[in-house]
Amino acid sequence: MIRTRFAPSPTGFLHLGGARTALFSWAYARRHGGVFALRIEDTDVARSTPEAVRAILDAMDWLGLDYDEGPIYQMQRMDRYRAVIADMVERGLAYRCWMPAAELDALRAAQMAAGEKPRYDGRWRPEHAARHGLVPPAGVPPVIRFRNPDTGHVEWDDQVKGRVGFANAELDDLVIARSDGTPTYNFCVVVDDIDMGITHVIRGDDHVNNTPRQINIHRALGRVPPVFAHVPTVLGEDGQKLSKRHGAISVMEYEAAGYLREAMVNFLARLGWAHGDDEVFSPDEFVGWFGLDAINPAPSRFNTDKLNWLNQEHMKRLPAAELGERLRPYLARAGLDVAAGPDPGETAVLLRDRVHTLTEMADAAHYFYATPHPARDRIAEHVNAANRPALVALGEAFADLPWTREAIAVRLKSEAAKHGLKAPQLMMPLRMIVAGTTQTPSLDAVLALLPREAVRARIAAGLGL
Ligand code: GLU
Repeated sequence: MIRTRFAPSPTGFLHLGGARTALFSWAYARRHGGVFALRIEDTDVARSTPEAVRAILDAMDWLGLDYDEGPIYQMQRMDRYRAVIADMVERGLAYRCWMPAAELDALRAAQMAAGEKPRYDGRWRPEHAARHGLVPPAGVPPVIRFRNPDTGHVEWDDQVKGRVGFANAELDDLVIARSDGTPTYNFCVVVDDIDMGITHVIRGDDHVNNTPRQINIHRALGRVPPVFAHVPTVLGEDGQKLSKRHGAISVMEYEAAGYLREAMVNFLARLGWAHGDDEVFSPDEFVGWFGLDAINPAPSRFNTDKLNWLNQEHMKRLPAAELGERLRPYLARAGLDVAAGPDPGETAVLLRDRVHTLTEMADAAHYFYATPHPARDRIAEHVNAANRPALVALGEAFADLPWTREAIAVRLKSEAAKHGLKAPQLMMPLRMIVAGTTQTPSLDAVLALLPREAVRARIAAGLGL
């Protein structure tokens, strides 16, 4: 059974790169009928906040990344880590080290001065300490170090990067518990991955350097390490590391800006993964196609135009009623009274070819839910002696016809002709009067969605009748 996890540190919102990692881990488990678990890595007490946990959970919820297990909080597992550490010391897999920080600093400085990589020299390994007669200082709490193998290589077949290897000689004996007894990051990850039965670790490639250490700890504990897949960074449009400078990088900012979760999933999926030439796909299709082998090892770039395009494509794919439901909260956020106008599904279908986000859609829909009051001079730009009689006559012309799009279209044409006007000469001023803008979808469709009396009242008000 495949078991994956997403293991965010709750030190801020869920950013795009993190969301993409979560999506890949989730999709891999779903694709294989496995288990997806959520683990909150909150041991950095100074930087972890409950608000950040909430923000991560909200973002996962919005994206539809449901987890089967968790959230598991590392802070609630301290006893377990301590027990494993005690056991490792007992079994000689780890040992106490009393080297003072100042000495360690001096050692590192000397190594660097000699052009060597700074590393702890293993002096408190029990056999070394015994040989050199080192005596633990009284009353000083030790750190606990993992006894890393001295020779050989740690290698793994990374599912994205291919074969990756490190020489053990480059890895020193990692501190797994600080002098106050708190376990350290790389150690907790291993204990958790073991206890959670994780088979596949899919995470950002900023963790590649941690992996050899983690593999050695897995092996010391008698475990076969999980399969690793390190996914490359997401870069900004300019090829630089994605940061605030690039605008919104928190997933939930995209929700607020009116992007559909389907489009966001599609967009995140395409950041470094592809399925042939398929550009627009649903979360279900993605799950059906997803594999680690198709992840591109090169960093991917964020592209706002592509996201906007995808969002529009997904708006077009949604059934009208569903899109209307999605639009509803954005109308409310725009201060519009949804009950005062047509079913949002009908509005959405009319507008979706013209906008890229639900926020733009709500904005473009304002004249359906609130009476626009275009300024006199704006109306005057469009109404003149030639078209005014036709506009005045529309009040009457609209009084008796069936209030359907087709009937309205026919009547508009015939009224224009009757007054010797071309259709646009009547439509443009009418748009301004009824909608407060000349940018509207097909006018007959717009009018049909408004109550006849509202249209007649707007015409009368606009013309000052
Ligand atoms: N907590 C780590 C992070 O947020 C992830 C560690 C892991 O996936 O192993 O980058």
